[in-house]
This record gives sequence, structure tokens and C-alpha cells, in this order.
Amino acid sequence: MRRPDLCSSTPTQVLGSLRTTTPACTLNVPSEANYTEQLPAGLGARLQEAGVSIPPWRGRPTSTLEKKRKPHLMEEDEPSGALLKPLVFRVDETTPPVVQSVLLERGWNKFDEQEQNAEDWNLYWRTSSFRMTEHINVKPWQQLNHHPGTTKLTRKDCLAKHLKHMRRMYGTSLYQFIPLTFVMPNDYTKFVAEYFQERQMLGTKRSYWICKPAELSRGRGILIFSDFKDFIVDDMYIVQKYISNPLLIGRYKCDLRIYVCVTGFKPLTIYVYQEGLVRFATEKFDLSNLQNDYAHLTNSSINKSGASYEKIKEVIGHGCKWTLSRFFSYLRSWDVDDLLLWKKIHCMVILTILAIAPSVPSAANCFELFGFDILIDDSLKPWLLEVNCSPALTLDCSTDVLKRKLVHDIIDLIYLNGPRNEGRETSNATHRNANIDAAKSDRGGLDAHDCLPYESLSFTSRMYNKDDSVVEKAVSVHPKAAPASQLEGEMSGQEDFHLSTKEMAQSKPKIRSRHTPHKTLMPYASLFQSHSCKTKTSPRVLSDHGKAPDPQAGNFVLVFPFNEATLGASRNGLNVKRIIQELQKLMNKQHS
Ligand code: ADP
Repeated sequence: MRRPDLCSSTPTQVLGSLRTTTPACTLNVPSEANYTEQLPAGLGARLQEAGVSIPPWRGRPTSTLEKKRKPHLMEEDEPSGALLKPLVFRVDETTPPVVQSVLLERGWNKFDEQEQNAEDWNLYWRTSSFRMTEHINVKPWQQLNHHPGTTKLTRKDCLAKHLKHMRRMYGTSLYQFIPLTFVMPNDYTKFVAEYFQERQMLGTKRSYWICKPAELSRGRGILIFSDFKDFIVDDMYIVQKYISNPLLIGRYKCDLRIYVCVTGFKPLTIYVYQEGLVRFATEKFDLSNLQNDYAHLTNSSINKSGASYEKIKEVIGHGCKWTLSRFFSYLRSWDVDDLLLWKKIHCMVILTILAIAPSVPSAANCFELFGFDILIDDSLKPWLLEVNCSPALTLDCSTDVLKRKLVHDIIDLIYLNGPRNEGRETSNATHRNANIDAAKSDRGGLDAHDCLPYESLSFTSRMYNKDDSVVEKAVSVHPKAAPASQLEGEMSGQEDFHLSTKEMAQSKPKIRSRHTPHKTLMPYASLFQSHSCKTKTSPRVLSDHGKAPDPQAGNFVLVFPFNEATLGASRNGLNVKRIIQELQKLMNKQHS
């Protein structure tokens, strides 16, 4: 008799095979039988006799699920003790402290390589990417927080190349959200030609460019210039058109940090977080001084060390960050169509990820959190500046506390959909379904279309129904961290919020469009879900093409696939052309 394969079996499978096929006498007793200690009386001893160590429980651990043990999670005669094993997370010295603290708060245990078997962990979260061998060896109960191949998006030169390719394939009108970019040294002559051509066209007017190291982050090594003689050519740099008409708030430049979680590339599944950060420069925008990083760069790593960081600044208050919801509410107060802007951002996220999705390697049980940096210009056009892997999760100021909830919601999200096993779909199907059922039950037995039984703060969400018309439905978000909101209140300084008359002229966005009636914290639960909240049918089963991913987990909202056609086009290989057609339709509707 063979010993059951603990690596590829769930505890149920292990126990099942034990009961039916495995004579105890033929198995070795492993030294680590520690998990059996918590099993019902007698069972631990029997397992030890049989020589089985049980890997930690790898079911879905949402906060409530972790506390309440759901009887339906257990297979008929599975010993309940097996479910009481805490989940185990693995970290290294680069793991953000907030991740560890959130997981401990959720009742997880920290992996201890001295004490535990090498494979006895459920989630490995670190800043750097994983080696391909680590991906290949991942076990069905394990998750890694990076997907292989995503540097194609997160290196500035690669991003530029991929988006350029997409522009060639699918047209400039769709892919015009990245500023004109030249990758050095290859594009040097093209850049020089463009520079002088533009100079000629502009006459006495100046043009502005920004040079950024392809691989660095946090504003390091950046140079902004107008005069060619200030341009220093360097390898591994990109030169990009400098957006010289940014949307200013209180005359300060800002950009948006949007959190995006891809829970799988095959099939492609993209969630956008409905809260985020707005990062401000801390000195007033001034094109006559391009050397002042505090006026031109919005990186908080730079601005938090500036002399003006602590000062109360016009409109933005003190510090250098707002939440995204505060930003949208500011836009609404100026009668701006923030919903349209948000829709454009969703499209931009999908179009960007589509640029690499067909070429990333298949990998099981991993996800990727991206930080999209987006600058809005004064005509409210969003520009993609860069995509970050491992976006900063440090808590520098009270606004940053949203990152705690972000981490909670990521955990909910990855376990709501169940561990993903691209290419190993069948073997773990049972386990995944159990997770989904558990998740469903954990949300009070509601299907996703019942829209979020979370408490607190109601807002109006807009969802697209089958014919893409907007329907409105009251749903709730749960910014459950009370201390966060308190701090946020202190930080936000509502008295700073209104513009002075002088301010108005300079700060008001140029385009003012349709008024959006909602005056609430987060504007939308979903912009794209074609499976409307109206019907009582489960939105997960959309068609014969396959099962739709869950539409929402916490503040994460599914943006791709966004209708039946895109669901179909993302199964059995990614049909990018078809998806682009659907996006085009959607965007045409947005503009009409
Ligand atoms: P890093 O990875 O170093 O943060 P980014 O591309 O995000 O590099 O640029 C840093 C900052 O520089 C941005 O947050 C933004 O404020 C500014 N910036 C970058 N590119 C542009 C651009 N094309 N136009 C205007 N501002 C830009």
C-alpha cells in the first residue's frame, strides 16, 4: 500500500483514503504529528498509528469563517478537529508589517521553519517575486502573492513597449492613455526627431519632458526638462512627455494610486479596489521651476520629507494624501462627472493588463496586487504613469490606514474565489467549491447579486444590467476600522476643504460635465457587471461558457470579465480581439 500523497490531497482526501484503503501497519509514523493534538479524542492516536501528519487546514479564511466553523464545510464524516487548524502564513524580511498584523488579527499563525514542515503554510507574502521553481512546487493549499511574468507591466520600459504594441494592433484611440514614451537608448533618434519637430510647431512655447529610470521607483533618478541641453542620455531610462496641465487641487499637483488585484491570468480575472490614495505634491505647481521635486513629483516618499509636508496647505490640508473617496467627493462638489472618470480608469486597467495577459506563464495558486499610478489632467483625461508590483503597504499617515482593510479584502478575495489551480482545475474542484459555498454562507447565505450584506455606510452603486443601462441600487461598504475613520476625520480637516474665490479660477477642472447625484463616500460598487442586481438568479452562472468569478469581495469589485461575451472570450485561451471589441462598445457608450 502506498502512503497517501499529502501534498496533493485535502485533509478530507487523506482521511478518506486512510479509512478505506490504508492499513495502519504499513505506514511510517512521521516525527511531526503535532496537528493530531487538536483532533477529537482517539482520532489523533489513530492517525499517528497510521503514520499520517495532517497539513494545516486550507479552507477559506474570511474573518467570520475563521471564527465560526461551518458544518457544511465538512465532508460527511470528516473529523471536525481537522477544521480547527489555524491557517499559516509565511513571510520574509521584505513582507510589509501590516500584512503580518492583519493575518495575525484574523487568527492565522506565522510559519516557523524550525518547528513546521517545509510545506505547512497556506500563504507566502513577500515583496520580491518568486522563482519559477517556487511556482511549480506550490501545493494545492498554498498561495503566493505574485504571479510570474508581471514585470512586463511593472518595468517602465516594458510597459511602454507592450502598450505601444497594443496601440499598433488595436488602434491609437483605445491606447492613448499613456504619454508618448521613448525607451532609451534604442529610441534616442526617434526622440530627438520628435523633440525638434515639436519645438518647431510650438514656436516660442516650451515643451516638457520627463526622464525616468526604467527600473527605479519612488521618484528616484527622475529629471524633468524643457531645454534639450538639460537632457542627459542614459541607458535604462525612458523619456516621456511631461503632462504639463495636471488637474490641480489647491494649485497642487496630484496623482491617483489605484489598487488592482489579478486573481488569475488564465482565465483572466481582474478586480479594482473601490478605495485608493490620492498623492499630492506639497509645493505649488510651477512650470518655471522644473527642478523642484516637491512641486512636480507626487511620490509620498519624497514629499513626506519636504518642509511643507506638515503645513496646512490650501484645500488639501496637511500631509500629502487623500483617500480616493475624498477626491471623488471633491470632484462632485465641482459638478464633475466622477463616474465617467472612474469608468475610464477601469477601461484603462483592463486594456493595460490585456497587453501582457496572453504572454504570462500559467501558474497555479497565485495572485498579484498592482498599484496603478494615474495622473488626471485638467480636461479630466486619465493618464497611466506606471504600474507597480508590491505597491507600498507602509502606514505613514492616518490616510494610509485604508491599507489594513485592503489587506483584509485581499485575503477575503483570494479565498472567496478559492485557491486557483490553473491547469489543475479538476483535482481541486471540490475544495474550491467548498470554499465558494462557505464564502456564500459566510455572507449570510446571500448570493453576490444580493449585493453585500455588510454593515455601515450605505451608498448608491450603479450597475449595468444586461442591456448596459444603468440601474441604481443601494448597497453598503464596510470601512470597518473605526479608528481609521476617526483619524481620517482629524486628518481631513474639513475646514480646509472649500476653495477660496481666488482658488476657484485656478483649481477648477476645466471640464465640468454631467452632475452625478450621489453624495456618498464611495461612488460605485461596479461599473461593468452586466449581471445586474435586479434578478434573483445567481450571477455566477452566466452561461455555458463557464462560471463567472464572484463580483465583489469587500471593496474589491470585479471589472473583468464584465459581461457574458468577455467571460466567454477569457475561457479556453484569451481572445483579446473579441475582448477589445467589447471594450470598444462600452467606451463608445460612455462617450455617447
Ligand atoms: P516612480 O516609479 O519613480 O514613482 P513614476 O512614473 O510614478 O516613477 O513617476 C514619479 C512621479 O513623477 C509621479 O508620481 C508623477 O507625479 C510624476 N510623473 C511621472 N511621469 C509623469 C508624466 N509623464 N507627466 C507628469 N508627471 C509625471
